[in-house]
Amino acid sequence: MTLSRIILFVCLAMLQQCSFSQPSPKKSTNMADTTKKNPLYSHEATDKVTLSDEEWKKVLPADVYYIARQKGTERPWTSPFENSKEIGTYYCKACGNALFKSDTKFESGCGWPSFYEPVSKGSIIYTPDNSHGMRRTEVQCGRCKAHLGHVFEDGPPPTGLRYCINGVILDFEKTKEK
Ligand SMILES: [Zn+2]
Repeated sequence: MTLSRIILFVCLAMLQQCSFSQPSPKKSTNMADTTKKNPLYSHEATDKVTLSDEEWKKVLPADVYYIARQKGTERPWTSPFENSKEIGTYYCKACGNALFKSDTKFESGCGWPSFYEPVSKGSIIYTPDNSHGMRRTEVQCGRCKAHLGHVFEDGPPPTGLRYCINGVILDFEKTKEK
């Protein structure tokens, strides 16, 4: 590779990074599409959701299905939520269950959106995860059991916890100004 080619490559990579960190406002239409296709999606409902993988596949976009039902992990530094400072609430993208408030979000530098405390005790389910030769605690949505990410004990006060969450499974709603 010649030097100019390397420089071109680096520039392109930087351009791509910029587009990740500046999501266009139009992205919110994705959310509307999801909720329209997904009859379970609700910010108010508290009933537990149990669907087969086949049924989930019909109502979730492919990237959400991969994280939620196949315990996938998005590439680090790809979520526009990772460094977002907007005030509001983060919901489960699969079912609409409230998960985290923006005031418990912090910059962990790990490449995924990070929080130190969930909205409520019941909003999250904790499960031991010993896959990939690691001892971790998986966190799932308390309403639909979608895989969200993992929780670690190296977070900031007051909880000392770091909820490391895939941005793809989060749905953000801004707090409306009164
Ligand atoms: Zn959910």
